[in-house]
Amino acid sequence: MAIEELYREIILDHYRNPRRRGTLSGNHIHAEGDNPSCGDEFSLDLAVENEIVIDAAIQGQGCSISQASGSMMAEAIINKTLTEIQDIAHKFKIMMAIEDGDEPLDPDRPGSVLGDLEALRGVRRFPVRVKCANLPWATLSDALTQWTGDALS
Ligand code: ZN
Repeated sequence: MAIEELYREIILDHYRNPRRRGTLSGNHIHAEGDNPSCGDEFSLDLAVENEIVIDAAIQGQGCSISQASGSMMAEAIINKTLTEIQDIAHKFKIMMAIEDGDEPLDPDRPGSVLGDLEALRGVRRFPVRVKCANLPWATLSDALTQWTGDALS
């Protein structure tokens, strides 16, 4: 199977079977965002305890890229510390910014922290779709800002 085909399968799987879909009850952080250029909407609930994300739930509607990105993100941040999540968000940002070439961005691969998120690397060739992929991460950034009470760069 060509790598592009594999990536497409992973994206469609997350789109059709989003992980951690729903909302949280009890004490949690809530953030939401939208991407008007595509009509994507996304919301995120995070429960944090002792500096760790112990639960996450997502809701949204829109294109497969935005919703798959959110599903992958929700899986990637669970049971992670703030620092670890910032690292994942940073690596994702770098991956989506690389214009060409398919060199591994993480020297530790295949132990890459991005996991399924690497399936979105093909999206970077389509700037309009990059906005879709980034929506859940912009929402996450908002949630992290609420968590820390500080603006994160
Ligand atoms: Zn979209």
